[in-house]
Amino acid sequence: MRRPGRLTPAARCRTPAAAALAGVLLLAGCAQSVDPIERLGKKAAQGVRSPGPATGQPYRRWGLNAPLAPAPKPAARPLPAGTAGRPLPPVLDHVTTSDPVVFLTYDDGAERDPRFIDMVRDLRLPVSFFLTDSVVGPGYGHFARLRSVGADVQNHTLDHPALGGLPYAGQRAEICGQQDKLKSRFGVRPRLFRPPYGTYDTTTLRAAADCGIAAVILWRAAMGADTLDYVRGDKRLSPGDIILVGPDESTGPTLRERTTRLLRRVQSAGLTVGRLEDYL
Ligand SMILES: [Zn+2]
Repeated sequence: MRRPGRLTPAARCRTPAAAALAGVLLLAGCAQSVDPIERLGKKAAQGVRSPGPATGQPYRRWGLNAPLAPAPKPAARPLPAGTAGRPLPPVLDHVTTSDPVVFLTYDDGAERDPRFIDMVRDLRLPVSFFLTDSVVGPGYGHFARLRSVGADVQNHTLDHPALGGLPYAGQRAEICGQQDKLKSRFGVRPRLFRPPYGTYDTTTLRAAADCGIAAVILWRAAMGADTLDYVRGDKRLSPGDIILVGPDESTGPTLRERTTRLLRRVQSAGLTVGRLEDYL
């Protein structure tokens, strides 16, 4: 699925230059990257069991001790989609709201476990996927199925470069190009954009605005194998936090397991999962 001679985003994460660009903020998103497809193959070979057939309480099937509370209807008006000449989009790792919600976001599109679709459907999880075209490759069907059960698909560039410092034309091509790809795949032009590694500059924001992006999305906390690492602020979940469910390790828990561990933390904080785009 990879193009010959091109680095995967995970490989890029491991290069010193990428690591330097990524910085501390990105450690959770890069340092542990290992090809998740390879990992999924290993898990299958090891006979890791999926949750059983769809019987009983959905929340129990997915490892929760209580149902996930439905998200309230947000009062906020959505931001208008950006157009050429509009002000620069806001850069957000947190949404100002008093609703008891956090937002779950996933990057790149390498992990494509069919059972995760079942989990999103059963738990009615309004999660957001930021997709990179060169990582998703022929796998867009998986994300179409995720959309059909309530997930959102957003922009994470065509080829996952660190954008900061690149010329406007190159940044615009990466962002607008993926807008076009996602529009042709799903019929909807994303309103939200996450820059690879969380790195960007003013040119990125101008290019994003010109590509119709309404908000640039970072994260206040990143879920690793079993830890929630905070980028800034209080080391506890608060209403409005945007959480990155980080890349996996070859020996780490599956996407489903990491999500369950995060949901338990969300529930224990008295929170539930909201749909990010409803609040922006
Ligand atoms: Zn990424």
